[in-house]
Amino acid sequence: MSDLIKKLLPAHLKTLKPYESARRLFSGEQQKLWLNANESPFANQYQLDSAHLNRYPDCQPQGVVQGYADYAGVAPKQVLATRGADEGIELLIRTFCSPEQSHILICPPTYGMYAISAESCNIGVKTVPLRSDFSLDIDAIKACKDQVNLIFICAPNNPTGTAVAGEQIASLLEHFADSALVVVDEAYFEFDPASNWAAQLSQYPNLVILRTLSKAFALAGLRCGFTLANPPVIQALLKVIAPYPIPEPVAQIAAQALSEQSITHMQQQLSELQQQKQRLIEALSQWPIELVGDDKANFVLFRTPHKQGLMDYLVSRDIVIRDQSKQLGLENCLRITLGNRPQQDRLLAAMADFFALQEQQA
Ligand SMILES: *Cc1c(COP(=O)(O)O)cnc(C)c1O
Repeated sequence: MSDLIKKLLPAHLKTLKPYESARRLFSGEQQKLWLNANESPFANQYQLDSAHLNRYPDCQPQGVVQGYADYAGVAPKQVLATRGADEGIELLIRTFCSPEQSHILICPPTYGMYAISAESCNIGVKTVPLRSDFSLDIDAIKACKDQVNLIFICAPNNPTGTAVAGEQIASLLEHFADSALVVVDEAYFEFDPASNWAAQLSQYPNLVILRTLSKAFALAGLRCGFTLANPPVIQALLKVIAPYPIPEPVAQIAAQALSEQSITHMQQQLSELQQQKQRLIEALSQWPIELVGDDKANFVLFRTPHKQGLMDYLVSRDIVIRDQSKQLGLENCLRITLGNRPQQDRLLAAMADFFALQEQQA
């Protein structure tokens, strides 16, 4: 770091580590099979009309907001479109927390961006680890009353793939009714439709739901997500959001993705992925692998004593999965994102070769 940068960079950013994605580690390599970031293996076609690219887009493009409201079964005034759910996370933190004073609460092992966003804004992070069965430690969370402004609950949880019991979320919403927003991150709800809190919005003024087009909708490259909440929450977020967060091409594609026909297509791809999930889980059972957590999302988490060897071997075969072993309680755990059938064939063939080599060496 240069002297100038050292002098200018605030203390809380000096130690901050950026989000570690394989895209940063191995950027630009096209022949690789990416099974690391919970993206969809399907790439769908869209039309672009460039007639209005000379104009700034609407802050909240009406076709996108209405389309998502219809899909989620909520009113347009309960929807905020953002640059991915990640921007929703950051907006909630910037809007409802004060630097050096407020805290968010997270329940690790969980999605990494809650803590990174908070730390980049100099907001404190209280952690209440999941219990050994990956359920919420409700009493420990409730003991943080009046100490936290936002509680992030990832449901289904990434990277454990576990659902969160509805009674647990309801009891938090009630306990924190006058002191904190409970943010239910439903990035994977399409893979577990029971994990859907949208219909409860009008019942709980402190409920916030995060959604995304990056996972089941197969549009991670689009960067489009949604925050669902009651109008007072949405109005507050609109104070902080950039004036033109949704680029015109993004709005056009998102509106097309939310058409009835595209939603039907998405659901077909979803059921294909659910089949591939069963196939992957069955195939993994032939090796010294212990499945960890549950399979409510589009990935499988497992533990193996060969964690590093397997990870390195797959990289040597141009297959990238995700090492989760640094997460709390997930020693020796790897996570595989579901692929389509040929991708999973390629993965399973490589894994078979790896475990055959292990046996030879043993
Ligand atoms: C992928 C993911 C997100 C981020 O979604 P984007 O819309 O791509 O920003 C948010 N939360 C969880 C739990 C995720 O896994």
